[in-house]
Amino acid sequence: MAEMKEVKGFDDFLLVPQYSDIRSRSEIDTSVSLGGLTLKTPIIASPMSTVTEAYMINALSNLETLGIIHRYNTVSFQRKLLSFVQNESYKSAAVGVSGDYKERLADLVGEGLKFVCIDIAHGDHILMKDAIAHIKEKYPGLYIIAGNVATADGYKRLSEWGADAIRLSVGSGSICTTRIQTGHGIPTMQAIIDASKAQKEYQDKDLHAAKIIADGGIKNSGDIVKCLAAGADLVMLGSMLSGTKESPGKVIIMPDGLKSKRYNGMASKAAQKNWKGSYSSIEGVSSVVPYKGTVAKVIREIMSNVRSGMSYSGARSLKEFKEKAQLVLQTPASSVESGPHIYRNGGRS
Ligand code: IMP
Repeated sequence: MAEMKEVKGFDDFLLVPQYSDIRSRSEIDTSVSLGGLTLKTPIIASPMSTVTEAYMINALSNLETLGIIHRYNTVSFQRKLLSFVQNESYKSAAVGVSGDYKERLADLVGEGLKFVCIDIAHGDHILMKDAIAHIKEKYPGLYIIAGNVATADGYKRLSEWGADAIRLSVGSGSICTTRIQTGHGIPTMQAIIDASKAQKEYQDKDLHAAKIIADGGIKNSGDIVKCLAAGADLVMLGSMLSGTKESPGKVIIMPDGLKSKRYNGMASKAAQKNWKGSYSSIEGVSSVVPYKGTVAKVIREIMSNVRSGMSYSGARSLKEFKEKAQLVLQTPASSVESGPHIYRNGGRS
């Protein structure tokens, strides 16, 4: 057996506060370039049926933020969804690597697709290599987002195959049961730390180095800040953008009166039954999450915290933040201190 390595997750890390000469958070620039776009936020909405369809993309594009239409539908329906995306530059959709994916891709390209996300659970795979080769040959202008992978080697392979951006981490999603079902996975922070070393190595050698998208398990703005510090160029959000006005699905009123919406893992029984009428290889769960209001409000709150996080490290841009940020490991006792603990000592909310 290979040497055993210890892997670490979000709550194992903290960032060291550093001297700052930033007088206002408005001085902080969180923009990132992706394909032909300059996005104002380093956020992408997950290609999931309870997160991203055209209504979500339209709201996000007004915020100069990207979302990807999921692939869990018929080719004609996905094409129709893409046709509802108003800003041509934001036309993004996801495809798989088998079945009808070539036909799906051709249809989506016909509808003006700009970003394609090759969306499979285990992206470090020969079928991924074939799919990237097919896209690069037939549609050389398309920007390719590929994944998911969880290792430096996986990052290098997909980068060499020609992916422009790579989704990092396996088994971390809030609705994911991959680790329970299959025993496989790597926490998102660990995957980013490993992949960002590979990215730097490729950049130093002047090789093509794909962008890193942290994907899965990001539960608050603090996690987003840690991802960006660890080397992610962007983050992908599922649960944090679920339950918004623009996420697909109806508002449900729960017996206690709480407004909610459904948020389903794409490999959950519920999601599979919804789109193909049957299910197999279940690797996710479905859930109900509180209704959060508009996605604009959610993104505004997130980005205000991200800017605040960058100012704690004295960084005016994401590039500067990556260079300056100092991650430290915390002990379990320190991790307890990191959350509000007044309630453990008799306090009440
Ligand atoms: P979240 O932001 O923690 O909710 O995670 C969202 C991410 O989980 C997505 O972007 C996918 O990478 C992944 N994902 C979506 N559906 C499933 C599933 O059913 N099982 C495992 N992972 C999933």
